[in-house]
Amino acid sequence: MSATKAYAVHSAKDTLAPFNLDRRKAGPYDVQFEILFCGVCHSDIHQVRNEWNNSIYPMVPGHEIVGKVTKVGDKVKKFKVNDLVGVGCLVDSCRECSNCKKGLEQYCKNGSVGTYNAYEKDGKTVTYGGYSKQIVVHEDFVLRISDKLPLNAVAPLLCAGITTYSPLKHWKVGKGHKVGVVGLGGLGHMAVKFAAAFGAEVTMLSTSPSKEEDARRLGAHKFALTSNPEQLKSLKNYFNFIVDTVSAPHDYNAYLHMLDTNGIMICVGVPPAPIEMYGFSLLGNRRSIAGSGIGGLPETQEMLDYCAENNIVSDVEMINMAYINEAYERMLKGDVKYRFVIDMATL
Ligand code: NAP
Ligand code: ZN
Ligand code: ZN
Repeated sequence: MSATKAYAVHSAKDTLAPFNLDRRKAGPYDVQFEILFCGVCHSDIHQVRNEWNNSIYPMVPGHEIVGKVTKVGDKVKKFKVNDLVGVGCLVDSCRECSNCKKGLEQYCKNGSVGTYNAYEKDGKTVTYGGYSKQIVVHEDFVLRISDKLPLNAVAPLLCAGITTYSPLKHWKVGKGHKVGVVGLGGLGHMAVKFAAAFGAEVTMLSTSPSKEEDARRLGAHKFALTSNPEQLKSLKNYFNFIVDTVSAPHDYNAYLHMLDTNGIMICVGVPPAPIEMYGFSLLGNRRSIAGSGIGGLPETQEMLDYCAENNIVSDVEMINMAYINEAYERMLKGDVKYRFVIDMATL
């Protein structure tokens, strides 16, 4: 075991504070690395506050983890000491089911293991995430990271990046498609960057008038303020795809009506309350509503390599570890441009 400094909460009402945890000793297939940066995902807030009713305490959040390898087990083939590496939302899965065999570990039929707020395959050991100094992960769940990109701005790719890249790839979004992105936060800004890079016409659908200039700089061709009914009128039956990244309850029907024939609304945001939907919102134009969860290991590596080749990173605001509770409050107000990343040297 190795003693590791971290930040944790002990209940849904708690704020994050210093915590000491023990990481396992690196086994033969394990990669141990020093965490240099960790992104702050809205899922961290949902889970810290038990908004999905599945929280395990104490909880050390963080699943946008990048750092430098300090130790590898003697059977590790893919990594060596000093390599730049990353870990996203998963640290294990069964590796045997049909989904794991296809590289869809996030949909493992026997249950994948989350980087935090989960139990290891032994059913007992709780996983602790990236708001910590170091981590030990099986090499199969560790990603290679290029030294061409600024490492701090790569961290959010491990969740916000892959969660938006994966559905855009799955539905082959590209040239000739009109894509609406709802919510300009961590996921939203990556959805705009990827959809634009893939050649689609991108419209930002936002509640924040102050974000228009940034949306256009990030790659959006159009911007619509969702609180302005006039601006929304012209978007009726307009999009082929809508990527909804909103973290709070909102009216899905209003967006479904913006889909053209056979249009698909892809929900990646996970508001804590169930969604209310009218049949008419779907049957007109033969619309569909779909979901998508993070991404598997091969696709996450593909996305990281694509970003390195095409110079795509997240727009980040760097914070100290001690600022985390304030950062959460700002995210809840939509005040983040566009991902907080913790500098782990400050822990
Ligand atoms: P975030 O950075 O906080 O961004 C969310 C954005 O949604 C806000 O910036 C805001 O954008 C908009 N918004 C917030 N409240 C709203 C409201 N009441 N009505 C309309 N719009 C609102 O969050 P994130 O980290 O991108 O995460 C977004 C969601 O995705 C979370 O629910 C998270 O848990 C989920 N998630 C899912 C997966 C997956 O695998 N599917 C992976 C990661 C995260 P504007 O100011 O532009 O309106
Ligand atoms: Zn996340
Ligand atoms: Zn599996």
